[in-house]
Amino acid sequence: MPDFRKRFDSDFTCLSYLAGLKWAAGFNCRRCAHKVSVKGDRNLDKRCQSCGYNEAPTAHTVFHSMKIPLTLAFEMVYRICVSKKGISSLALSREYNLNPKTGYNFKRKIQLSMKSSEKHPLEGLVHVDEFVVGGKEVGCQGRSSETEKKRVVVAVEVIKSKKKLLMGRAYALSIENYSSSELQKLFDKHISSKAKIETDGWSGYKPLSENYKIKQTYSDKGQNFPTIHTLIMNVKNWIRGTHHSVSENHIQKYLDEFCFRLNRRTFINSMPIFLLNRIVTTNHTPVKLSERGYYG
Ligand SMILES: [Zn+2]
Repeated sequence: MPDFRKRFDSDFTCLSYLAGLKWAAGFNCRRCAHKVSVKGDRNLDKRCQSCGYNEAPTAHTVFHSMKIPLTLAFEMVYRICVSKKGISSLALSREYNLNPKTGYNFKRKIQLSMKSSEKHPLEGLVHVDEFVVGGKEVGCQGRSSETEKKRVVVAVEVIKSKKKLLMGRAYALSIENYSSSELQKLFDKHISSKAKIETDGWSGYKPLSENYKIKQTYSDKGQNFPTIHTLIMNVKNWIRGTHHSVSENHIQKYLDEFCFRLNRRTFINSMPIFLLNRIVTTNHTPVKLSERGYYG
């Protein structure tokens, strides 16, 4: 954190950094695709030389129209991705003295940038399993039922070392049910067709073996798949411990956040910078052009 704060020590430094990322490959007008720009209305804005459209470095990013200083927002990005277990939006709001709604919205937007690019499917030996999250928890009050549980299918690379099995990268997907078509969504998004996939005897996986190399084995209550069961316990404990409960509409965002951190755990120092890059390239704000051609 001290190094990060030193690097992004003023709003202008943060804005310059965003501008550098955004226009690394040059200006390209969103309105008319013209490639030449002149200085825009405000600091570091660019204005299209042809149609006059003005764009700020923050436009179309998480930082669009934000009321809090950029230095603080950058620090929050750092805080969200570097802390081992992440941070709930409520804890973030308390730590940075924000309105809870502001903290909540900010966290949601950062989570969107943590979504997988789906360009790096799992390879080698891959174990697949399903689980549920939510529903009745010990110590929780109020009504809970089976219907409140969310179904998830998860895949993890298993690396065999001399004495034990190590966890590689992983992806998880929220699904409606355990049918082949729902399970296939995870395979198509996140598993290489060359991977050697192992899973339990569930019939839903059988039709998928047409396109994937799948070996089905007796699970023996998870004993034959220790790596993926550790992972599932970690996901459940993380959701229960850090976020207490997660609404059905947002479960995928939490799974994305968990996998983002897990899959980059070996290069934690570069994670905030990587995430900032993602934030700038993720289109967050579908706002309309005003008469003056502002995106803000
Ligand atoms: Zn233009």
